[in-house]
Amino acid sequence: MNIGQKKVLVTGGAGFIGSHLCNRLVIEGNDVICVDNFYTGKKSNVENLLREKNFELLRHDVTFPLFLEVDEIYNLACPASPVQYQVDPVQTTKTSVHGAINMLGLAKRTGAKILQASTSEVYGDPEVSPQNEEYLGNVNPTGPRACYDEGKRCAETLFFDYFRQHKVNIRVARIFNTYGPLMLPNDGRVVSNFAIQALTGDALTVYGNGNQTRSFCFVDDMVDGLMRLMNCSDDVVGPINLGNPDEVKINTLAEMVIDFTNSKSKIKSLPELEDDPKQRCPDISKARALLGWEPQITLKEGLDKTLKHFSEIVSEI
Ligand code: NAD
Ligand code: UDP
Repeated sequence: MNIGQKKVLVTGGAGFIGSHLCNRLVIEGNDVICVDNFYTGKKSNVENLLREKNFELLRHDVTFPLFLEVDEIYNLACPASPVQYQVDPVQTTKTSVHGAINMLGLAKRTGAKILQASTSEVYGDPEVSPQNEEYLGNVNPTGPRACYDEGKRCAETLFFDYFRQHKVNIRVARIFNTYGPLMLPNDGRVVSNFAIQALTGDALTVYGNGNQTRSFCFVDDMVDGLMRLMNCSDDVVGPINLGNPDEVKINTLAEMVIDFTNSKSKIKSLPELEDDPKQRCPDISKARALLGWEPQITLKEGLDKTLKHFSEIVSEI
């Protein structure tokens, strides 16, 4: 190991955001350990890194303890797509809660700095917009999204209790909808669904009336935000919103994807999902002020890159 080189653990490192993060960390010369149980991640997402001397891949489930020596931990392990996290909701909560306990225990033992990938879902179906970090949320604790929303809320609680009680050096990022290349084509989230549907000529499936909103952040911007939060001054622990404040209706997103792919696909209306948040838009004043961060990539630019990626892999699906 070079002097000054950090040993960085990324849990969920073979997933969508995790693989982009591992890539950046390796390029910047860190010694990276990627831990994943391949529930929604794929070895192929980090295949390009396997030959690098400063990258290791370890199959491990974070609901079990892990003993390593590290300087920094990015805790991303957890399925993020509603379709995927509802397949095995008990495991989803275990991953968030037991995973947080195990990774915080590792941080406590090694003195590592640890960043939690929390989520805008802690705000549930918000009654205020945009959502700032002081908003306490509107989450249904017994609905189909609760395994994820409440799991992530409990993980935040654990992070702040380890911070107060055990002086662990924490960072909590509340990530809003993020998209880009390497999302699984069958992942079930809206950007990958619409991309594949438009490229294969299938109808784009809009749940409900399509007037619900989301704010989409391109993955390179998100990775930059996460790394800035990890590397900022120790008094900035968060929670801090990371996302793109450019809010769009799901209907508008569907029209953009059809337009950008020159697709002949139609839009098909399907029943509204239970507890589907009606609006979501981050207030990123804190990220701007404390991290000097805001997204640089517009939805059009990001969609172009993402649709190019999906058009390259669509023949293999
Ligand atoms: P993803 O599903 O692509 O990646 C999650 C990774 O975690 C996968 O590689 C999966 O195999 C792994 N994993 C799941 N359970 C595990 C376990 N028990 N042990 C070890 N590994 C496990 O999702 P993503 O979009 O890359 O999200 C990464 C993180 O960011 C998640 O924690 C998610 O909650 C958070 N987040 C993402 C978004 C988004 O829009 N992408 C929004 C908010 C929060
Ligand atoms: N959505 C949709 N069609 C799809 C997938 C998702 O209309 O094929 C909608 C979904 O109902 C939600 C929004 O798109 O309102 C974002 O869904 P996604 O699963 O990407 O993430 P969420 O923000 O709900 O976690």
